[in-house]
Amino acid sequence: MMMQLDALHVTIAPRRGWYVQWELRGVSPSHRLRLERSASSEGPWDLVSELAWNVYGHIDELAEGRDFWIAPIWRLLVLDDNTGDVLLESNSETYGSTRSPRFIAEAIRQHDMVMTRLHGQALTRDFMLFKSVTWGSLCYACVDQITKQPFGGDCGVCNGSRRIGGWGAPMRMRGYFADGESILTARQQTGRMQESQRRLQMSSWPIATEGNILMEVFQRVHWRVLNVSRTAPNGMVVSQSLLLDRVPQDHAETRLGLELDLADA
Ligand SMILES: [Zn+2]
Repeated sequence: MMMQLDALHVTIAPRRGWYVQWELRGVSPSHRLRLERSASSEGPWDLVSELAWNVYGHIDELAEGRDFWIAPIWRLLVLDDNTGDVLLESNSETYGSTRSPRFIAEAIRQHDMVMTRLHGQALTRDFMLFKSVTWGSLCYACVDQITKQPFGGDCGVCNGSRRIGGWGAPMRMRGYFADGESILTARQQTGRMQESQRRLQMSSWPIATEGNILMEVFQRVHWRVLNVSRTAPNGMVVSQSLLLDRVPQDHAETRLGLELDLADA
């Protein structure tokens, strides 16, 4: 499969630094990632971190510019894990003085304050986010190796991802259901939204994409992400709104995360 970087998101992590996140396809355990940073797209580049192939993002806490007047530039490299050859390389956008990230930092701080206040009122929920890999070997237990068509719904080998080792390391996150009464009204009036669907509001970390699975940590309920809309002035994500569909009990995805000990994590 072709290796491809679909997106390289940079956004502000108040009091911590910068979130750098990517949507990468076609990487496998024979690769590793390297994240670098520079003040200019011409370099020189400083090493931020070497990362495993199945990592989706990194918090850069050491970058200059904590006042967020300007943003550095990050570069993501995909390396052959054996030879160290660079197979793919891509820079983040530049956020110059005309597009000061400082105003976006303020918007993110305000969104975080709302989240913190709702959390104080026990209105938020904790989730684990799972991303399926879109590469690697097809599952031998539930996919016809010749026609590449899946057979059978519930597979304990790949937990429904249709790939061997099909779910990456989960990421913990927090969100709140932003539908309440309005969604019930929408259902009654248009009949468009299904009974099993909900709208979740969350921050810019981690970046969620269609097809991801969320597990509510304490309720152990699983949701599939149907679509994501992002508030992203100047291309920096401030917040995300997810349309979720409840995963039916007999689907293999409902086993994701059940083995995790999350009691006081
Ligand atoms: Zn399978």
